[in-house]
Amino acid sequence: MQFVPVKQLLIALLLMAVSFFASAEPPKVLASIKPLQLIAQAVTEGVTDTDVLLPPGSSPHSHSLKPSDAHKLRSADVIFWVGPAMESFLPKMLTSTKRAKAVSMMDIQGIRLRSSEEGEHHIHEHGEHHDHGDYDPHIWLSTDNARVIAREMARVLISVDKENQTLYQNNLEQFLMSMDQTDTRNCEKIEQSGKTPFFVFHNAYGYLQEQYGLEVAGYFTKNPELQPGARHLVSLKGQLDKAGATCIFREPQFQPAYIERLTEGLSVRVGVLDPLAENIKSGPGSYAKFINQLVDNITSCIQGTVKKNDKLS
Ligand SMILES: [Zn+2]
Repeated sequence: MQFVPVKQLLIALLLMAVSFFASAEPPKVLASIKPLQLIAQAVTEGVTDTDVLLPPGSSPHSHSLKPSDAHKLRSADVIFWVGPAMESFLPKMLTSTKRAKAVSMMDIQGIRLRSSEEGEHHIHEHGEHHDHGDYDPHIWLSTDNARVIAREMARVLISVDKENQTLYQNNLEQFLMSMDQTDTRNCEKIEQSGKTPFFVFHNAYGYLQEQYGLEVAGYFTKNPELQPGARHLVSLKGQLDKAGATCIFREPQFQPAYIERLTEGLSVRVGVLDPLAENIKSGPGSYAKFINQLVDNITSCIQGTVKKNDKLS
């Protein structure tokens, strides 16, 4: 048998104990949807990797909970979600996972809430009582809201994990700076392409429109799961006929046949917008990539219609 000096053994044990107590487990962070995960990942960079509840291809408007979701929710320390107007499947589950700190981003101070009716918008005052159904829940599609969300995430994470306070704060500063760069870049892109009004598949882009002064001329449906009504489709057909060279954006999660039928014979271009960031890999700078990709798809489609128009005339 090999002889191990007692002193060395004690030192080894002591080192193990020190490393065990010094680094407590970082919090397990779960976001309901991918775009919120991308913001959370920016804040937790260097501390922990975040997880996401909704699998690719599933829409938060219609998702129903699976046993694997329940497991994820139960093992999380911090849960970031949008609110009952978006993930209507969550509130019931959250009451049975009291262990975790759950924050609904539609309820946080300073978040901008648009009325779900077009045009009007409201700033939500903290503690104000309202019906969530009155507000457009796609709050993550504006960099101003992303800033507010990131600040709140950092605040919550620091409250449960003091040890990594400096990292969270530095990450937040970095994120806020990157949002300024993102806005500058995107405003330049839009300046170059012009703001030709375009049509979108579902009524999700009000915040993006407001952030960058884009013009959404119309949408196919309020609820992406449902076939739009016949009357709405007829009025949309009229709008499309009048609009001339324009862009229509579908979404990777949905490929309804009525889009093809409506655009047949018209000089429209069909692009893709992904409001759920499905093809964006979570990592440093990924939220900015997500917003940049949306703006790039819009501006390149608009530029395409302009070129097409020039050739015709
Ligand atoms: Zn939506």
